[in-house]
Amino acid sequence: MTATVIDGKALAAKVRAEVAGDVAELGDVGIATVLVGDDPASHVYINLKQKAATTAGIRATDHRLPAETRQEELLALIADLNADDSVDGLLVQLPLPDHLDEAAAIESVDPAKDIDGIHPTNAGRLYLGRPTLVPGTPLGIMRMLEEYEIELAGAHAVVVGRSAIVGKPMAHLLLQANATVTICHSRTQDLQRHTLDADVLVAAVGRLHLVSADMVRVGATVIDVGMNRTEEGLFGDVDPGAAERAAYMTPVPGGVGPMTIAMVLQNTVTAARARRLANPVH
Ligand code: NAP
Repeated sequence: MTATVIDGKALAAKVRAEVAGDVAELGDVGIATVLVGDDPASHVYINLKQKAATTAGIRATDHRLPAETRQEELLALIADLNADDSVDGLLVQLPLPDHLDEAAAIESVDPAKDIDGIHPTNAGRLYLGRPTLVPGTPLGIMRMLEEYEIELAGAHAVVVGRSAIVGKPMAHLLLQANATVTICHSRTQDLQRHTLDADVLVAAVGRLHLVSADMVRVGATVIDVGMNRTEEGLFGDVDPGAAERAAYMTPVPGGVGPMTIAMVLQNTVTAARARRLANPVH
């Protein structure tokens, strides 16, 4: 068996076209991004998000603060953007420099504009089964599973990784889709015993090829979130040899990555719609 490739790049292009249509319909949609410091990967991500937003017709403002920015200065900027009615979606790029309080920054974003879906209010709504704004990576994965008609109800889904931005929201979305969900992490004993039992396996760890081919059940759907940069290029958490056992599998690159940015744009449309409903003068 060789797995069908889940083409995240093509699906992301489709989502972005849908977003562009929604933006044209809504008239004016605004996004603001905030980046603190000099982390090269963060600069790349913000540039990609800015470009993707502009291409979709979203008005994008780009706030870049020096690495030595104080907490009060960051919170003051976030407060200004919360109050700015022309901003529908607000995103603070993580990680922040070590001296800044990341949790406080996340909590200071207006939940109605939190297009990363990480404010406790939005995380809590997801936990309660009433999701509003959900982190882009797991949201994109759900869209991929839907597009490829992967049956989730009654399936055993195993999520490796329990971060607030990927693993946990992923597990909640799968649970809500009526999968039976197992969450694995660094203290899980005998990881293979769990992964071999997965109809749907999501690897979100950040360890090069942690999931070897013999850890994948024959006929499983494998979603590889991992982005491990090496001198030879970008690789996932799953050994590509697993494609000989899986029925469906995402590539790295070209799988989950492009979907994440597309879903952040979709969240911006969701936020804009909800804000207009809450305040019809828009
Ligand atoms: P993270 O916050 O570092 O979380 C990693 C998780 O993996 C933790 O829950 C950790 O367990 C678990 N883990 C570590 N070693 C393990 C092991 N040996 N066995 C089982 N679990 C283990 O990372 P993240 O932000 O979720 O990101 C995960 C990966 O996805 C990274 O490569 C990141 O670059 C990538 N990513 C990609 C996208 C995309 O758009 N493609 C988006 C976000 C993230 P503990 O909780 O016990 O420490």
